[in-house]
Amino acid sequence: MEYYDTTIIGAGIAGCGLAYNLRKFGYKGKILIIEKYTPGANAAYGYRNTFKKTIEEYNLPYIKKFKKLKMGEFSGIKLDVNLDFYLIDYSRICNHLIKNLEITFKREEVIFVKDRTLTTNKESYKFHYLIDASGFSFFLKKQLRMKLPEKYYIGNLKHYKIKDKKKLNYFEYHSNKKGYVEDLYLFDDNIIQGDWQITNDINFSEIKQPKYRKINEIQESTELINRSQVIAPVSPAFPMVKNDYAFLGDSFGHATPSLGEGIRPTLNASRILAKSIIRNDLKSYEKLWKNKNLDTYIRAMAPRIRLKNRFALLEIIKDYPKLISKIIKGDNPKIPTGILKKLPLRIRLNWAYHYLRLKLKYSLPQ
Ligand SMILES: Cc1cc2nc3c(=O)[nH]c(=O)nc-3n(C[C@H](O)[C@H](O)[C@H](O)COP(=O)(O)OP(=O)(O)OC[C@H]3O[C@@H](n4cnc5c(N)ncnc54)[C@H](O)[C@@H]3O)c2cc1C
Repeated sequence: MEYYDTTIIGAGIAGCGLAYNLRKFGYKGKILIIEKYTPGANAAYGYRNTFKKTIEEYNLPYIKKFKKLKMGEFSGIKLDVNLDFYLIDYSRICNHLIKNLEITFKREEVIFVKDRTLTTNKESYKFHYLIDASGFSFFLKKQLRMKLPEKYYIGNLKHYKIKDKKKLNYFEYHSNKKGYVEDLYLFDDNIIQGDWQITNDINFSEIKQPKYRKINEIQESTELINRSQVIAPVSPAFPMVKNDYAFLGDSFGHATPSLGEGIRPTLNASRILAKSIIRNDLKSYEKLWKNKNLDTYIRAMAPRIRLKNRFALLEIIKDYPKLISKIIKGDNPKIPTGILKKLPLRIRLNWAYHYLRLKLKYSLPQ
């Protein structure tokens, strides 16, 4: 039976980013990535966006740079933000990260894990550490009957071509008070439009489209090319480490609770995990990640427990574009007291209650 020091299930951004960072930080162990399809295969339409810092840090190839993010309407609240961000081809960036790395890649499906042995549809392998980067299939969590993330964005995505070949480039985002979100990328003659719903359960019938959607304005001049149903977990599900196993990316819930942006936070977490593996101290991964990120996640989650609170917050921050762009970028800055005081007292109290509750919940052993 072949032996690998670190075996990774899944070659999405989590698996590829971890392999990249392990080698970058000088890891000498043998690395195996097992992927049932191809690197970055799990990407509806293949397109994602991310911010400049990540593009530069990983020298990622990109398709297009957007200069303006139109945040559109949030139940009547208009937000416009000037923010550079980049359209990327998901499978291309996953392939880019593992290109020329000294790793073993096997196109197999993992079907069972016991102790330090993993079995695929073809072979069995021995490992020292196993990293579950299997995305929202939650392969290992399901096998171990562990807790899954509690919040998801579920979406119906459609890819249209614009018939008159008019070239348009922008990104728009709209939402309403019932947890519905519509997003639209327009680039060249493509439109990728999503009807999303924030839910606690993966049930696509919950997506209730409002009467007005932005796509109605442009749909006549488009041709539908493709559609699919997609899932994005947006809340962390602890623990991050169990015995010799660790969880990274969607299988943990690394995407930001605010917008479901998963690439940057997953790459950041992969850096922390790589260092813990190199120190042969897997447990420190959770501790270090929590020290650096947990408060930011909780600050983003607390006002979102009740959609009413979220919109009350949007109403007061709409006039502070710098604050909005920091929130979009996932920084979740502390909101200055002067601004917070504009919120009704009952909302501030409810928000503070959820903040403390989550803080307690995640600081207890899971
Ligand atoms: C429609 C959509 C749009 C998004 N847009 C953005 C965006 O614009 N910007 C952004 O930052 N984030 C975005 N996100 C979130 C981001 O894409 C995810 O958080 C991120 O891609 C998760 O990466 P991952 O590696 O954890 O999972 P995945 O990319 O899903 O990789 C998991 C891999 O594991 C493999 N696998 C699973 N089970 C097994 C098994 N048993 N054996 C072998 N292999 C297995 C799968 O085939 C898959 O390739 C979006 C998400 C969705 C759904």
